[in-house]
Amino acid sequence: MSELLEGLLPWHVSSINELLAVYHAGALHPAIMICGQNHSGKRRFTSELASSLLCQAAVSDKPIDSAEHAQGDDIIAKRYCGKCQSCLLVQAQTHPDHYELTIPDGKKSIPIDSVREIQAKLQQTAQMQGSKVCCIWPADGLNDNSSNALLKLLEEPPSDTYFILMANSARQLLPTISSRCLKINLSMPTNEELRDWLASAYAGGQVDEAIRLSRGFPEKAAEVLGQNTEGASLETMVEAILSGSQSVSALTASLESVNFELFLDALVYRIHDSAINEGLSAGGVLDAPLLQEGLAQGSPVCPSQSEPLLGTPLRHALAMQSLVMRTRTSLLSNPNKKLFIESFVLNFRQISHESTG
Ligand SMILES: [Zn+2]
Repeated sequence: MSELLEGLLPWHVSSINELLAVYHAGALHPAIMICGQNHSGKRRFTSELASSLLCQAAVSDKPIDSAEHAQGDDIIAKRYCGKCQSCLLVQAQTHPDHYELTIPDGKKSIPIDSVREIQAKLQQTAQMQGSKVCCIWPADGLNDNSSNALLKLLEEPPSDTYFILMANSARQLLPTISSRCLKINLSMPTNEELRDWLASAYAGGQVDEAIRLSRGFPEKAAEVLGQNTEGASLETMVEAILSGSQSVSALTASLESVNFELFLDALVYRIHDSAINEGLSAGGVLDAPLLQEGLAQGSPVCPSQSEPLLGTPLRHALAMQSLVMRTRTSLLSNPNKKLFIESFVLNFRQISHESTG
């Protein structure tokens, strides 16, 4: 699809270059914690950092700046070459010194056995004679036992090994772990940076709508924009379901053609905005988990000029929001998309009717 869906976010270039300058000076801390909200680019940052640490080519000790990054086509050549054996193995996801510690399917946390298994491998010499990199995602998926096992590793890190932990917030981790990490807080873009980045890939796309619907979360905005560029406007559909202006079957058909999860997110934000505009916030009672996650920390880009939902009292806003959140949760386990969407549209319409009728 689009180039926006991968690669380092341009406003993180200076942070990673600073880290790599320290690395090339031989002084990089062995444990780095990348902190940032969901959809803020943690995976991209980590992947770029891991590739750079593993690259075997002599990489420039003069990191490029953001301006060059925005213009150059061959920019990655300066952080990692993309051509050496290490880079090729990273691209193929088969690099023998690149480890991922994550929650296995069917489990709720990272088990201690996974940490021990990786520990044994990390004690050995790097197979490619370079650095070893262990990415831990999500770091708050470590349980007490695996945290303690990791702690021992961080206290006496194996040679040439770098741990990269990804977390929404350092506060979610054992203080003994987070205190042993160099913390990098990923910045959110300014409105202008976000707009430039989105416009760079989708000339003529509905950039402002994407920013509005995603509340300024860059990766979500890119998804919304990609979706809208393919023909359907999520905002139009959000307005359609709120106004009840389309038949259930017509709306269901439109919704079948879009990323339904993105639509639900856009809808829940819209309901939230309208309720706030109407003075219905009622001591944070509208804060659904999804909203808390992003909104509580205050997104720097937070346009909310939408019209209020006329005559919608708090309990209806809550009922609508709760229906959307429940629907979002059960989305993955529902095989019949059409029936699922149709039933959502019907339920939503019923609540809207109660509120206006
Ligand atoms: Zn390379």
